[in-house]
Amino acid sequence: MLMPSLLGAALLLASCAQKEQAVTPAIAADADIEAQTAKIVAGLTLEEKIGQMCQLTIGVLEDWGSKEEFKVNTEALDKLIDEYKVGSFLNTPRNVCQTLDKWQEIITTIQQKSIASLGIPTVYGVDQIHGGTYTLGATLFPQNINMAASFNRDLVRTSCEISAYETKAASIPWSFAPVLDLGRDARWSRQWENFGEDPLLNAEMGVEAIRGFQGDDPNHIGKYNVAACLKHYMGYGVPASGKDRTPSHITDSEMREKFFAPYLATLRAGALSVMVNSGNNNGVPFHASYKYLTQWIKEELNWDGVIVTDWADIANLFSRDHVAADKKDAIRMAINAGIDMSMDPYDADFCTLLKELVEEGKVPMSRIDDAVSRIIRMKIRLGLFDTPTWDKADYPKYGSEEFAAVALQAAEEAEVLLKNNAAVLPIAQGKKILVCGPNANTIRGLNGGWSYTWQGQQGDVIGERYNTILEAMRNEYGESAILYAEGSRYMGDQWDAEYGDESMLAEVTAKARQADVVMVCVGENSYCETPGNLNELDLPQCQQDIVRAAAKAGKPIVLVLNEGRPRIVRDIEPLCDAVIDIFLPGNYGGDALARLVSGKANFSAKMPISYPKYGQSLTTYDYKPCEQTDVMEGAYNYDAVVSQQWAFGYGISYTTFAYNNLTIDKGTFTANDSLTVSVDVTNTGAVAGKEPVLLFSSDLVATCTPDNRRLRAFDKVSLEPGETKTVTFHLPASALAFTDDYGQWVIEEGDFRFQAGNQTILTKCSETYRWTTPNI
Ligand code: BGC
Repeated sequence: MLMPSLLGAALLLASCAQKEQAVTPAIAADADIEAQTAKIVAGLTLEEKIGQMCQLTIGVLEDWGSKEEFKVNTEALDKLIDEYKVGSFLNTPRNVCQTLDKWQEIITTIQQKSIASLGIPTVYGVDQIHGGTYTLGATLFPQNINMAASFNRDLVRTSCEISAYETKAASIPWSFAPVLDLGRDARWSRQWENFGEDPLLNAEMGVEAIRGFQGDDPNHIGKYNVAACLKHYMGYGVPASGKDRTPSHITDSEMREKFFAPYLATLRAGALSVMVNSGNNNGVPFHASYKYLTQWIKEELNWDGVIVTDWADIANLFSRDHVAADKKDAIRMAINAGIDMSMDPYDADFCTLLKELVEEGKVPMSRIDDAVSRIIRMKIRLGLFDTPTWDKADYPKYGSEEFAAVALQAAEEAEVLLKNNAAVLPIAQGKKILVCGPNANTIRGLNGGWSYTWQGQQGDVIGERYNTILEAMRNEYGESAILYAEGSRYMGDQWDAEYGDESMLAEVTAKARQADVVMVCVGENSYCETPGNLNELDLPQCQQDIVRAAAKAGKPIVLVLNEGRPRIVRDIEPLCDAVIDIFLPGNYGGDALARLVSGKANFSAKMPISYPKYGQSLTTYDYKPCEQTDVMEGAYNYDAVVSQQWAFGYGISYTTFAYNNLTIDKGTFTANDSLTVSVDVTNTGAVAGKEPVLLFSSDLVATCTPDNRRLRAFDKVSLEPGETKTVTFHLPASALAFTDDYGQWVIEEGDFRFQAGNQTILTKCSETYRWTTPNI
């Protein structure tokens, strides 16, 4: 065995050798596009090149004389384009979604000026996070946490296709989505923006999102497609404090194996751009990390897309993180680390300062040429030189019923049934139902953040035409069947301001006595990013009191959790006969819920995260064995206790499924083998249902303590009562590898266990194998 220091040296040599190898590009280069890019870049002055690297927010173009509606201040536009040559803009005016006509007006004005003055179109980007966040009248889908819960790849792809179509109808070619940070900390205010906590789930859903947004050819983005932007590269979801944009401490080894996984998959799938994590890891801000920005994705993957900063994150290198002395120094650091475009977002002084840095020899011209080539290449790939704007008349399905039906189906497949004692659900017609709680009558709550506005506060006004849970229940059961009581009430803009009092609780008890069933709708109001930080993970006491007040009536209680992250409900859960976590299901989430509780639709979602039971026991499903002890063996046992409310992958339906005959084609295997694993799944209940089939593996003994288990594959099957389907998974044996203490991929000789449902099977790796490449 090599001594660690020798092994380190060997690894270094391996990585040097690796650099000399030709790396297959993540996106196959197109010779015409390369020639066109080179020609355009060769004709640009230094100022023009730097201008392309500057992205400003639309607010800098506001004509403040126009009170009623946003108008572009053409003087400001002329100055920014003529003087600073700015090549990109972002965001929605006045922080609220705009009509297609307004977008057409804005983008046309900017494009006409850019092309006339620079000969280069601008590239405009917005955050269309779960559908048409900023395009009024477009379709809003469930948030990604829900899309992950559906375990339905087709729904992710179709929803992103629709989102791209509706974004392009506004002449916007670039969407800052999908979010692939891994939602691994229950406290984090952006957990819901991700496809759950698991690397594979994020990777697979991310690949579907890329295909949906961009279509199948990243070199030629079609009329109904947009460029995607992977964010926030990477490891953004595990700040040690649980608070947004605070430090993380991820080792390179864990980074490679888990946090990088969805980026690797989606970059290989052709993602055209990446936005960087605002935070810092082990003291190094991601925006200043040559290792992560240049080595890991530009060099190792030979990826030729655009890396854009997050909001003001170059300035943050000096103003917040204190790793640079001033803005100019911060620009030097970030550009040399590999940033191609600065989302500045208010000040074009970026252009002046970067020009000085080039003239002073502090940023090499080669770096500028590389950055600007990437930006021009993306603009060509987007077809912007030929078609800088698109005609909204060519997008007749914008906001259509057809698209709404997809959003409704997504919501139905994305609300998770967690408990259903004594078959309290479905609730039969003719029953009297009390619907109560602060989330019962709000569209804002259903959508969460990034909905019409950044924080989602205007959801109830702009989304007025959609049905809240209360309205949907009235539509489903008839007005007279539904009683309503608030229980507590959200107050105004701030997401966690809430009011409740004894009389509101007394109303709940009184009305619960008149009802057959009580549906208590609690959770969170909309928020996003740092404003959504919290100090207490428990569901607010005033909301827990609503359940207690309802319980006094002795009627069955259905608890509906409408939340962006799992708020602790340990104390009230035993009072409830049924629990449904609807997370943030979007505009059709109320309708979907009513159809599910009435039995018109069946539940088919599973938890994409681990739902904690205690605030001090936060963990993910792939925890280490030492975290797994259920019993405390005396006072001197220091093992932790893992105790969760609902596990990752848990979710029930109105039918039951049996798993049988888990088989694997190889009893022993080596690193280069392919494995085929199959399992029979039978619908053993009385109604049709869909079942997400999850395949896990466990490495039973490894030199680095192995994860308890890891999701290796999944599929969703539809089964009629009595029907059996064989679900077959093909996976390379390399999928079972892990990264060791040196960050090197290895699969070790020894036993592996696969698990699907209640079935397990063992197989054996017959020899240890180490990869010399950083990515496998
Ligand atoms: C967020 C990003 C977003 C950007 C532009 C930032 O504050 O972190 O997710 O894309 O703003 O709106």
